[in-house]
Amino acid sequence: MIFNKSLDNVSIYEAGKPIELVVREYGIQPHEIVKLASNENPYGTCDAVADVIARKAVNAFVYPDDSMYELKEALAKKYAIESNNVVIGAGSDQVIEFCIHAKCHEGSKVLMAKTTFAMYEIYAKQVGATILKTPSDAHNLDEFREIYKQEGADVIFLCLPNNPLGECLDAADVYAFLDEVDSNTLVILDGAYQEFASYKDGAKKITPNEVIAKHSNVIYLGTFSKAYGLGGMRVGYGISNSDIISVLHKVRPPFNITTLSLAGAIEALKHEHFVNMGIEKNFEEMKRYEEYATSKGFRFIPSYTNFITIYMDGYTSKDVALELLKKGIIVRDMTGYGFNAIRITIGRNEQNTKVFQALDLILG
Ligand SMILES: *Cc1c(COP(=O)(O)O)cnc(C)c1O
Repeated sequence: MIFNKSLDNVSIYEAGKPIELVVREYGIQPHEIVKLASNENPYGTCDAVADVIARKAVNAFVYPDDSMYELKEALAKKYAIESNNVVIGAGSDQVIEFCIHAKCHEGSKVLMAKTTFAMYEIYAKQVGATILKTPSDAHNLDEFREIYKQEGADVIFLCLPNNPLGECLDAADVYAFLDEVDSNTLVILDGAYQEFASYKDGAKKITPNEVIAKHSNVIYLGTFSKAYGLGGMRVGYGISNSDIISVLHKVRPPFNITTLSLAGAIEALKHEHFVNMGIEKNFEEMKRYEEYATSKGFRFIPSYTNFITIYMDGYTSKDVALELLKKGIIVRDMTGYGFNAIRITIGRNEQNTKVFQALDLILG
């Protein structure tokens, strides 16, 4: 069968290995498995959120509120915006898809950093867009400027902070860049880890309401999957001016998130102290990874997220990742990105201790 030609160039997203697979392939008990591959929140959510989700189950036969009124109102309050500045997606992944499908077609140009979130490229290629990447792996705004000046772009992605490397541009530099971008170029500021970055360093904090008040061509993306501990519920959002939001609603399927997801996200917004506790612990535990890496003579990328990318200097990252997997520890090998490194989500204290013990055995 002949399919959409654009899909010939699209590779399938390789998700972090699920616990179930490690159980099947290595016969390790689920409770012994340490999954640190997809940047989920190892502290999960507070009991109140889990209770609300469980209670809503009896209503599962009814379609969810497609207006998502309550969630939009709660987000509007959190960010000091109006609810018509918000679109909800099944993860912010889906909002990226909305943006690309609304703005791009064959021959459109989409500009991004060389090593960044894989879904940007996948969605852009689905519609036959041309991908432009900076020469440097990490975000370098001068390189973005140079390419933008020469080639133009329909969409620009900035990942703040960047997955899978962990680095983050300063907000002031991002704002200066936005001033130079044409109003017909959609700039997507992906804030999936903004809660972590702005906790570690206030200079990284993007303020969506100020950005959208000043720029009609910018959308900010947030998610409940990382700091809010609801990766399994699939809830993300976009914040932009109401004109862009109404266009995105044209490509949004009805009922795109579930009743349980809506309820969980609304409740999670009421328990910010729990979220902040997780962020605080994240950086305490990250210090242990930095110290461990240094003790082994490994370089690492200073991270503004809930993961850390460590170079496996003197070893082969693919082998190290496989040996960890055999011990029930799932991390992300970065060979596919051209890095001899592993990306590890910062786990809970006892999980991280297991990682260090396993690495000690593997590295000898
Ligand atoms: C995790 C992540 C997302 C979105 O995840 P969802 O679960 O779809 O909300 C978006 N961008 C980056 C960079 C991420 O790491």
